Amino acid sequence: MAVNSVNAIRKELLRRGFHNPRMAEIESHLVGSGSKACKYLIFMGLYPLPDPAVHTDPGSAVIAPFAAVHYYRRCTKTLQNLVSELRHETGIPKRDIRIFSNSRLPERSIAAALGMGWVGRNGLLMNREYGSSFVLAGMLIVLDPPNETLLQGTGELPRILSLKAPPDPHRECGKCSACVMACPTGAISTTGGVSLERCLQYLSTSTEDLPEFALAAWGRRLYGCQECQNNCPVNINRNHREPPDIPAGEEYPIHELLTRFALHPASALKEIFPGTALEAGWIPRESILRNLLIAAGNSKDSSLEPLIHPFLKDPHPIVTHAASFALYQISVK
Ligand code: SF4
Ligand code: SF4
Repeated sequence: MAVNSVNAIRKELLRRGFHNPRMAEIESHLVGSGSKACKYLIFMGLYPLPDPAVHTDPGSAVIAPFAAVHYYRRCTKTLQNLVSELRHETGIPKRDIRIFSNSRLPERSIAAALGMGWVGRNGLLMNREYGSSFVLAGMLIVLDPPNETLLQGTGELPRILSLKAPPDPHRECGKCSACVMACPTGAISTTGGVSLERCLQYLSTSTEDLPEFALAAWGRRLYGCQECQNNCPVNINRNHREPPDIPAGEEYPIHELLTRFALHPASALKEIFPGTALEAGWIPRESILRNLLIAAGNSKDSSLEPLIHPFLKDPHPIVTHAASFALYQISVK
């Protein structure tokens, strides 16, 4: 690809709200394409997120700030527009470009290998300037030969991990263990890494009953957890503060949501939470309803009882179990 095309992409990434753009050329053996001789170019950027709001209403359920707006979709749409507009300048056919954000690619490891930060003990990409308050997004471009078919499917993508992982991904964390201490379920190991089955973020979308330890720590969560990020000194002391966005919503009154779920039993989440990451098709409706009922129980608000009762007959066992839990929680003073 011509140098002026690379510069044009970099400039446009910056102009469209991405920060710290990085790129690397990747040889075929790093992608794992066997004997085929081909080259890829990878571009990545950080899309900074605004500071979270303070949630004080005990009658509301909360969506984690990073999901209050569908930032992943915002990033991919921005990149799609960029690709369309730069088609003339770069001469690259659309089929040779794969756009990604929150994809199956090991994005954090690739970003670390590109020098965009390090993978912290909490498993997230950390950066002194931005903390972990950003979304990652980028493009993978087939350079040579053109029309290469490897990007047609997703099967090849995870293999790009072999780019070059840093030897000790957590070394920049030093002796800090603030995220380990802050995690309400003990999901983070002192040696680094997150146990997914103990992580409330991961459990938000599970389709099983929440285990006891998660029920005890759930609070008013509707979707997501970022306690480990909120308590990370790199995040707290970061230099870059993104101006406030207008979020689609972080706090939702529990009684209103229970009413909406009951009145519209077949509604997709995108109708109940428009503009948020809950619009993503892979998030199960019953998981969010389960989370809401647990938050309702934890609110201890007895006026919610008549709104909870109808869910004892829901077809999804995780919802009926959560409704029973909620009624029990409210009954215990
Ligand atoms: S997201 Fe929450 S539960 Fe998961 S590791 Fe971080 S603090 Fe722990
Ligand atoms: S809280 Fe400390 S250990 Fe955890 S990711 Fe941040 S800097 Fe690393």
